[in-house]
Amino acid sequence: MQAEYDSNNIFARILRGELPCFKVYEDADTIAFMDIMPQSDGHTLVVPKEPAVDIFGLSEAGAAAAIRATQIVARAVRETFAPDGVVISQFNGAAAGQTVPHVHFHIVPRYADQSLRGHARDQQKMEVLKAHAERVAATLAKQGA
Ligand code: AMP
Repeated sequence: MQAEYDSNNIFARILRGELPCFKVYEDADTIAFMDIMPQSDGHTLVVPKEPAVDIFGLSEAGAAAAIRATQIVARAVRETFAPDGVVISQFNGAAAGQTVPHVHFHIVPRYADQSLRGHARDQQKMEVLKAHAERVAATLAKQGA
């Protein structure tokens, strides 16, 4: 069973440039930007450009491109924030915790002395997100990504 794609979901609107985001990376198949309600500092989302609700609706080529981009961006997030660990997650369906119906991958730095903030709960200050995005983008540029 394939979920129907809503072309007005918030990530579709970001992909079309109708809404802003703090972008750190873009290639032919994906973009990555800071999560606006980060569970930890550096929480970044990798979003395939393909219009798919979830992993099940994504083409194999789209999935491969998304994982490749996720690895590239996660390397930069790790170098930028020097966390103790990095969680990479992806939710399918509301019951699994998915709140935006366009497939995406979470890159969530984990710091040994900090618990995670709530999922999609508290909006971070714009200036903090902007500064974090600039730092990740600078690391990506340094890494030649
Ligand atoms: P999920 O619950 O897996 O669908 O994750 C959706 C994520 O998108 C959550 O972590 C939200 O904090 C995040 N989010 C929602 N709206 C925006 C937005 N406009 N820009 C960036 N991140 C967003």
